[in-house]
Amino acid sequence: MMVGAHPQAITASGSPPRERLLSPGIVSFTDSRIQAFKEEIRGRLEPAIPASWAEAKDLEDEAPAALEVRRQWDRARFEVGLACVGWPAEHGGNGFTPVEMVLYNEVLADLDAPNVYNMLGYLLAGTAIISWGNEEQQKRFLPPILEGTQTWCEGFSEPEGGADMANCQTTATRIGDGWHIEGSKIWTTLSPWGDRLYCLTRTSLTAPKRKNLSVFLLDMHAPGVSVRPIRQLTGVASFGQVFIDTDIKDSDNLLLGREGQGWDLSSLAGAHRSAGKPRASGAGGGYAERYIRRLGECARESTASAAVKEKAEELVVRFAAHGWRTKRIVELGQAGRDVSRANSTTKIAFSELVQAVTECGVELGCPTHAEFWRQKHIECRKHSIASGPNEIYRNMIANRVLGLVR
Ligand SMILES: Cc1cc2nc3c(=O)[nH]c(=O)nc-3n(C[C@H](O)[C@H](O)[C@H](O)COP(=O)(O)OP(=O)(O)OC[C@H]3O[C@@H](n4cnc5c(N)ncnc54)[C@H](O)[C@@H]3O)c2cc1C
Repeated sequence: MMVGAHPQAITASGSPPRERLLSPGIVSFTDSRIQAFKEEIRGRLEPAIPASWAEAKDLEDEAPAALEVRRQWDRARFEVGLACVGWPAEHGGNGFTPVEMVLYNEVLADLDAPNVYNMLGYLLAGTAIISWGNEEQQKRFLPPILEGTQTWCEGFSEPEGGADMANCQTTATRIGDGWHIEGSKIWTTLSPWGDRLYCLTRTSLTAPKRKNLSVFLLDMHAPGVSVRPIRQLTGVASFGQVFIDTDIKDSDNLLLGREGQGWDLSSLAGAHRSAGKPRASGAGGGYAERYIRRLGECARESTASAAVKEKAEELVVRFAAHGWRTKRIVELGQAGRDVSRANSTTKIAFSELVQAVTECGVELGCPTHAEFWRQKHIECRKHSIASGPNEIYRNMIANRVLGLVR
């Protein structure tokens, strides 16, 4: 029904992707087309899930074997025309509405599908390049993201402070017909395998704060760019510190937007990542749903106390409530209402809920899944720090939403 004769995306390989499923324009959860839409997505995605996912799904999400399956999954979704579903059709996406992205994520969750591998390519670099990139940058950088052949990293955090981007110390200094970029980024997810860095730099020592930053789309294989992997609490070394001491030419066309526009480009990117996350981005796999299903199973089998089992039941209900609340926010936003206040608590609520689920999983003491819960409990500590610490979100809510004095 919605497979149409829309313009095909240009791909790096020169070949068009298979027919893409394009948005039927569903904007509410009572639309009669929902079932058919979900069935069509399911029909395409289910056979595309890599067979090796069955073995990898209980691993740490960024363990090398899990990352490899997720990489294959990006490629497989491209081949069935469901790669970067939130991008506009003219850039090779499906142009899904926020409501459609929630429905898409529901299918992913039902299928227990892998998470997107190149999340930062899709949601950070790709969306920013679509909004701010010039035509040459769009032609050059978007197809490999769509096709799942290039890994992007986010270069905001630095050793001297991550959360405060205005404090960026990596400099880009004018030299003749180009720039010398020097500094270091840290906690850079997937950097050991990175191809491109969305790199926030300071381009002026005199311009006013927030007008002195610029973003470069840096080649991570260029001379003078190197990565030292950092091992996490889980034992996996999937992020790292990036060291930069490199020159680029103006003709390389790597400055995104205008010089001095970096603050807008990085806060826009942050908004993309956190506002719609996790349900309206079209990027999530089904990991949280998988945990909650398993929590219910373990609670039924567990010999833990009634109080712990009750806690598990309560979390199942809280998780469902969180899903409904998120849907409501998405639907109201789609209808043009300002949902920024309602949405401001979503990141905190989701990260803390997932952490409570894994903690309860440990408490249940299920003999079959004890190791799974131990590992996920450690792994999920990151959710309240990554994409900005919850403490900072709380401060922002206090100041900007509730209007409390500082
Ligand atoms: C798994 C993981 C992956 C990550 N991936 C990336 C990535 O790919 N790219 C990238 O650039 N960064 C990445 N980060 C870094 C992450 O964005 C930063 O850790 C985060 O922004 C906090 O910065 P920081 O660690 O420098 O802590 P700081 O900014 O030094 O803050 C430390 C603590 O102080 C408190 N704090 C600081 N400022 C405030 C405030 N204004 N109000 C209230 N409390 C405050 C908070 O408790 C905070 O946790 C990742 C982090 C994790 C855990």
